[in-house]
Amino acid sequence: MAAPDENSPDTSTAPVPRPPSVDRLARAIADVNLPHPLLVDAARTAVASGDPETAEQRARDIAAEQARSLLTGVVNATGVLLHTNMGRSPWTDLPEDASDRYSSLELDLDSGERGSRQDRAPRLLARVCGAEAAMVVNNCAAAVLLTLSALAHGKGVVVSRGELVEIGGGFRIPEVMAQSGAHLIEVGTTNRTRLADFETAVQGGDIALALSVHRSNYRITGFTESVAASAMTGLGVPVVADIGSGLVDSACPWLTDGPPPWLEGEPAVRQTLEAGVDLVTFSGDKLLGGPQAGIIAGRADLVAQCAAHPLARALRPGSLIMGSLQQLALAYLARDGLTIPFWRMATVPVDELRQRASAISPDHAADTIAVPGGGTLPGVEIPSAGLVVQGDHVTELRTGTPPVIARVHDGSTVIDLRTVHPDDDDVIRTAVDRLT
Ligand SMILES: *Cc1c(COP(=O)(O)O)cnc(C)c1O
Repeated sequence: MAAPDENSPDTSTAPVPRPPSVDRLARAIADVNLPHPLLVDAARTAVASGDPETAEQRARDIAAEQARSLLTGVVNATGVLLHTNMGRSPWTDLPEDASDRYSSLELDLDSGERGSRQDRAPRLLARVCGAEAAMVVNNCAAAVLLTLSALAHGKGVVVSRGELVEIGGGFRIPEVMAQSGAHLIEVGTTNRTRLADFETAVQGGDIALALSVHRSNYRITGFTESVAASAMTGLGVPVVADIGSGLVDSACPWLTDGPPPWLEGEPAVRQTLEAGVDLVTFSGDKLLGGPQAGIIAGRADLVAQCAAHPLARALRPGSLIMGSLQQLALAYLARDGLTIPFWRMATVPVDELRQRASAISPDHAADTIAVPGGGTLPGVEIPSAGLVVQGDHVTELRTGTPPVIARVHDGSTVIDLRTVHPDDDDVIRTAVDRLT
């Protein structure tokens, strides 16, 4: 069929409005801040989906919606300090001097030879938690997978039935164990496991490790008995403790006032290693307060075995993560907890939050309850303060610029200031003014 000729009117059919040119539409919505190919996609979708008259508005809406849905900074006003949907700990993932420069990631500046990316941040982190050695992988799930693969492939790993944990996002100890090629040897029962259960299993032979898993996100109460990782050290096999949460030292020397009361009972890396446990695995973005990462810390020979395994290459982080972990480790060593956003927010006195709330809107200031979150410290409450506004306004807040994430409690919108950076108090003030 020949191309239609504009100069010879086609009289055989009724006139149909011509679909607007996709390219012309894309140019008409160029004020939406997206690269041209994405505007073309939006225009194409709009043209395909109906009335040409309204195509431009549809295209603009589609493009604007996509621009809004990009990864963006949000104001976390939930009072959940480690919110998995908001990247757990507040951290920029950018080392202080990050720029468009190269880094010395695997360069030994003394010799000019190739070095190891595991030599800097991991070494400093080992120093922070009193470990002989440490290495860093992409998250704690990777740390557990690598540890089991490198140290127990084809052999048995003894775990209490009360600690066959599932962490949010589908991390299940039995499944990770299966992936690693280690055999899960379950001992004890859901509510009671004794040291003798572990001893019997180890005597059965071919056991590579005893694994202790922190019940990060649940508690077992009532008629219970469990074996601390420190009690397993006489079993005659290396003991690995997956503590997950990443509290590096229960004395919290980086906090002027020592550990806050709500940390009571949380296992810490330094004390776990001091008790004779051989290896500890933990997350970078829970109570450590850094970027997403997983740390394996403990006996140098075992860390070296993990580092030599082929999976280590597949699970290694890049220079952005290593750079920000280095910055974080230096802050811990300088005992400068207030430069670590998570610890600053977690420990800011409630009176300071009350003052901020009153300064934003005295009529709405109220005491609130914050939580650690991130699958850590279930049931723990941290006294907090913020603003409470009648009615459910969370959608309105979330769809604003920047998005403010709040929660609803008893029919009111709760804006908790513990997790809000003071620089964002103006954002909160504007948002609350609009709601009331
Ligand atoms: C959170 C957690 C993990 C998983 O950590 P990611 O860094 O999210 O992979 C593993 N084990 C325990 C005990 C945890 O608490």
